[in-house]
Amino acid sequence: MRYDVVVLGAGIVGTSTALHLQERGRAVALVDRRGPGEETSYGNSGVVERSALLPVAFPRSLSALADVALKRYPGANYHWSALPALAPWLLAYWRNSAPDRLLATARMMQPLLSATVAEHRALAAKAGVETLFRDGGWLKIYRSEAAFAAEAREFPLAAEFGYRVKALSQEETLALEPNLEPSFAKAVHWQDPHSVSDPGGVTKAYAAYFQGIGGRVLTGDARSLRQNGTGWSLATANGPIEAREAVVALGPWSMDVLTPFGYRFPLAVKRGYHMHYRTEGNASLGRPVLDEENGYVITPMVGGIRLTTGAEFARRDAPKTPVQVDKTEKLARKLFPLGSRAEAEPWMGSRPIFPDSRPVIGKAPRHSSLWLAFGHQHLGFTLGPATGRLLAEMMTGEKPFIDPAVYGAERFG
Ligand SMILES: Cc1cc2nc3c(=O)[nH]c(=O)nc-3n(C[C@H](O)[C@H](O)[C@H](O)COP(=O)(O)OP(=O)(O)OC[C@H]3O[C@@H](n4cnc5c(N)ncnc54)[C@H](O)[C@@H]3O)c2cc1C
Repeated sequence: MRYDVVVLGAGIVGTSTALHLQERGRAVALVDRRGPGEETSYGNSGVVERSALLPVAFPRSLSALADVALKRYPGANYHWSALPALAPWLLAYWRNSAPDRLLATARMMQPLLSATVAEHRALAAKAGVETLFRDGGWLKIYRSEAAFAAEAREFPLAAEFGYRVKALSQEETLALEPNLEPSFAKAVHWQDPHSVSDPGGVTKAYAAYFQGIGGRVLTGDARSLRQNGTGWSLATANGPIEAREAVVALGPWSMDVLTPFGYRFPLAVKRGYHMHYRTEGNASLGRPVLDEENGYVITPMVGGIRLTTGAEFARRDAPKTPVQVDKTEKLARKLFPLGSRAEAEPWMGSRPIFPDSRPVIGKAPRHSSLWLAFGHQHLGFTLGPATGRLLAEMMTGEKPFIDPAVYGAERFG
């Protein structure tokens, strides 16, 4: 079977890319070894960001670094065995975490980030899953004045980007979320983000919409991709397929396919975990809540309250070490009346991340009919639909809705 484009990876990024291409008249096959939206795009915190200003940074102060190194900060964990191979990446990440570079990255990401909510909601309407979305923003709670002050320093930048943000007292926060325990002093309410109650379900619905407009979802191993005279070939469960162009949107697995083609992009992963909880009594939560000083998020989901953890630096395929779930669960129980665990063991996934916290969206530097869309770090669920539109516009020769230059892979040489 021959297609115009084969998109490898049916997470939120690949699925959104495939459907934007299909809508533009391309015959598209979307290939994954699993069903759509069953990996990273399933297990995240479900926040569709419109408040992410500065990227998540490597700690620069000695005390913050010591908290991570000594594993006192529950928002981070690492495996000693992973550090030697990760060292060059961590050094580059540390360099990119200098205040002036963070600000520069924030400005480079803003054009894409400002489109996220509108792009998601447009797809949600077409796919018939608006009921899985909620507005109302998200809350960050603070126990110490110093941590609150650090967040408040971002308010002028928020005003510059046109984001609505409000500092709340404990009483004002409890008026918004009456079931939170008053174990915090203050909160910041970012009002523009939306959130979803089932990120995997949203991705599956987008894939179903893609099929409804003529796209094909196929099962196959992306590592069977081969270049041939007229484009690309791939083995799938439905037999071999061919396509004029290929898109790599394999999230944390993207280099599994690109390394054999000679690419050496500095993609690493920040692993993360989640666990769902039943609630005590009739307690409910209206929006995601981030306990920033302890590095976890609780989000109301279809499967219960989902607690998601911060970053774990480890080899992508090393066995799970969900110590952060155990540590943050104890803290989260002081913030919200969590009941018993709803699953036997924590879910684990990997945020694909470049050291400059920008995704790659665009042409592969050395193959004219190969396109790339991965490395969306902490914001991939948010950025999927906007990325899909941008890449589809580039591939079909339309004028891109934003300048894609800063997301090019050429920046890695
Ligand atoms: C704990 C946690 C919380 C997060 N919270 C948020 C949040 O609130 N908001 C937000 O915007 N982002 C969040 N993120 C980040 C976000 O989830 C990711 O950036 C995003 O899901 C990446 O999407 P993707 O499509 O690139 O990758 P994926 O969703 O991982 O998709 C890649 C696909 O490739 C497939 N694949 C892999 N190898 C092969 C192969 N050999 N052959 C065929 N198929 C293959 C996989 O099966 C998978 O379906 C969070 C991440 C984590 C871990």
